[in-house]
Amino acid sequence: MSITNQTALQLAAQLRSGALRVSEVLDACYAQIEAAEPTVHGYISLCREDAYAFAAKVQARLDAGEARSALAGVPIAIKDLICTKGIPTTCASKMLEGFRPPYNATVIERLHAADLIPLGKTNMDEFAMGSTTETSAFGVTRNPHNPAHVPGGSSGGSAAVLAAGEAPIALGSDTGGSIRQPCAYCGVTGLKPTYGAVSRYGLIAYASSLDQIGPMGRCAADCAALFEIIAGRDEKDSSSMDFPAFSAAAALAGDLRGKRIGVPAEFLGEGLQPAVAKALREAAERFRALGATVEEFPLPMLAYAVPTYYIIACAEACSNLSRYDGIKYGHSAAGARDLLETYILSRSEGFGMEVKRRIMLGNFVLSSGYYDAYYKKALQAKRMLQQAYFKAFETYDMLLGPVAPTTAPKLGESLSDPLRMYLSDIYTVTVNLAGLPALALPCGTDENALPIGMQLIGKPFGESALFAAADAYQRTEDAPLGRL
Ligand code: GLN
Repeated sequence: MSITNQTALQLAAQLRSGALRVSEVLDACYAQIEAAEPTVHGYISLCREDAYAFAAKVQARLDAGEARSALAGVPIAIKDLICTKGIPTTCASKMLEGFRPPYNATVIERLHAADLIPLGKTNMDEFAMGSTTETSAFGVTRNPHNPAHVPGGSSGGSAAVLAAGEAPIALGSDTGGSIRQPCAYCGVTGLKPTYGAVSRYGLIAYASSLDQIGPMGRCAADCAALFEIIAGRDEKDSSSMDFPAFSAAAALAGDLRGKRIGVPAEFLGEGLQPAVAKALREAAERFRALGATVEEFPLPMLAYAVPTYYIIACAEACSNLSRYDGIKYGHSAAGARDLLETYILSRSEGFGMEVKRRIMLGNFVLSSGYYDAYYKKALQAKRMLQQAYFKAFETYDMLLGPVAPTTAPKLGESLSDPLRMYLSDIYTVTVNLAGLPALALPCGTDENALPIGMQLIGKPFGESALFAAADAYQRTEDAPLGRL
């Protein structure tokens, strides 16, 4: 099998045994990048020189029999909102064009310590705001399964490069679905971890109470191995928590016998593409065959999911993005005559339409006359949603649902109708509002051969159970690899 068709764990095993050299794996990835990028455009920038320089050190350690992690020597793609020292980090925005962070995000430090090798930075929606990777200031990414369609967003670049064989594993971030939805659209696997499970230090903020960095890969086992490396408390992020001894090996040893899986009935309601509903029913059957019980239960709070999420996310975003003023951070307008003009022109020039829309919405819901009516209400709804989930977990070990109501839309369809785009986040955003972990994995294709994704939602810090279920499911597949 060619190098670019393999899972990260398969590559790591061959790197350890000496059957493959780290430079060979890098060569294969960069060759595939050159072949695929003219169509896919999943990367904003590459860091080839750094990658080969680091690879030499990793190879020396592997030659000495020292593998610093289960993924030692494996190349990785990084979403371009995670700070990488000396390497451009743009958030896909003109506002940060040319920014080279003076420090690494904690997850990057952990990747280095585990000997994973960053290949480059992947495209995304500007400041992670969007569901299609079309709001990037540096051009759209195309879905490798059909370039007329979007790859999803906001981590669309990371998902697309996995599907196109341009990287074996990747990091994304998920504020309201940005790991899971592009995984679903591109036919790969990804985890949105429990809030606090992974350090956000060095992750450029969108909505701080919802943002989480997570692993994306060709299968659940790869994601579990990467999650083990990045998870855990970091003293630089006070919202991070000690992960109660997560072990990928232990997680994958679990099975589904006797597990109770709940399907929120509202997840199967109006607006769901029939092919997605059918794929989900078939997946439920397979979980039953693996020994689980699967049944529907009501989750009426779902009706409030989208407005609650967009009020909270925009409120936090307008505050987080106020730092880009042309002076402290980011693009600075050349022609400004005074301080106020510097602010106005820099922000007008630096931010794209979708980001501006959300800053305006956020300021509106936080303004004195509307705070109680919108922001405070949204916080109350968020609490109720969380309680509804906790109640479900009194009965069920995990929940199953679609990731998105449809498969990947065509390029250009969503931007003309932002409300429709927001509504398509209905199944993913509640997980972030409730701080829960959720794992997205492929479960078939629609009539146009576009991938369909499902998600398993877990209890806080219940990642192990999700990985066990997803891995058991993927082992029953003929072709489990999320690679074209
Ligand atoms: N599509 C959602 C939004 O636009 C989620 C984005 C994300 O998770 N970063 O806010």
